[in-house]
Amino acid sequence: MKCSVCGREAVIKLRHAGLRLCPEHLVARVEKEVAGAIRRFRMLAPQERVLVAVSGGKDSLALWHILVELGYRAEGLYIDLGIAGYSARSREASQVFARERGFTLHVVSLEKELGATLDGLTRLARGKTCSLCGTVKRYLMNKFAWEGGYQALATGHNLDDEAATLLGNVLRWDEGYLARQYPALPGEGKLVKKIKPLVFLSEREMAAYCLIKGIRYLYEDCPHAQGARSIALKGVLNELEDRYPATKISFLRGFLKVRDRFRPPEPVVLQDCPGCGMPTAADGPCRFCRLKGRVSHGAAA
Ligand code: AMP
Ligand code: ZN
Ligand code: ZN
Repeated sequence: MKCSVCGREAVIKLRHAGLRLCPEHLVARVEKEVAGAIRRFRMLAPQERVLVAVSGGKDSLALWHILVELGYRAEGLYIDLGIAGYSARSREASQVFARERGFTLHVVSLEKELGATLDGLTRLARGKTCSLCGTVKRYLMNKFAWEGGYQALATGHNLDDEAATLLGNVLRWDEGYLARQYPALPGEGKLVKKIKPLVFLSEREMAAYCLIKGIRYLYEDCPHAQGARSIALKGVLNELEDRYPATKISFLRGFLKVRDRFRPPEPVVLQDCPGCGMPTAADGPCRFCRLKGRVSHGAAA
């Protein structure tokens, strides 16, 4: 198998892009796609400081590496959720990565911020682990980025993630979620701009990129593993992709063309939370502060 660009030995075949690539040209493609997404969606200006949310997995570590490579002022944020048998290893992977490259990694502990780990919170609060995890991560990422004066918050969501999320939103025709699913959401007040520079890159490309660049990441998934539904959605898309290459990329690109036809059912009005001062759509304390209240109540009981 020969590289479509240079004719040397190729190491990966990307059917959806009609390409076979050698290591050098796979790296070039990944970095070009990231730079292209940043330009197209006006994700970052050259002088802006960006905080990369890193999980220790391939996507977020590669993203951090690429942003630095492209010349951006990128620092990392790892949120230690206190998941037994997992968080310690994902934290270690993130720390080793940062240390080896001299990058600045910030670590925030859920136990310190909330008074409980994710495992503890799941026992105390109603609600599914993955949805609680999403809530506390989004809150802590934004709060840290806002307080640290970063202009953007970047996550490692890739093409496979975004296509699965899109399919989930379409199956429910959730107009609010569809309106908000976008590679770059502008900042507003204390909500920092959110960007997903890997939206057009597949999981396989990101894994290959890490292998070629010597990025050692944590292979294992979170034991709570994202909830059964999103795994099922990814499975269905993988089956379709197998039979009809480029299903995922055309699904996502097609959506981005029509996405501004979707409107949230009613405009969301944000107010400052009386507890922490961060923005919330709730009338009263934000969801994080309410969870915190439940934790201290539960601990006292
Ligand atoms: P996930 O929701 O686990 O698929 O992760 C999506 C993205 O969220 C990752 O690519 C990271 O950018 C970010 N992320 C996930 N877990 C963490 C964590 N513990 N700390 C910081 N960022 C995270
Ligand atoms: Zn080549
Ligand atoms: Zn609050």
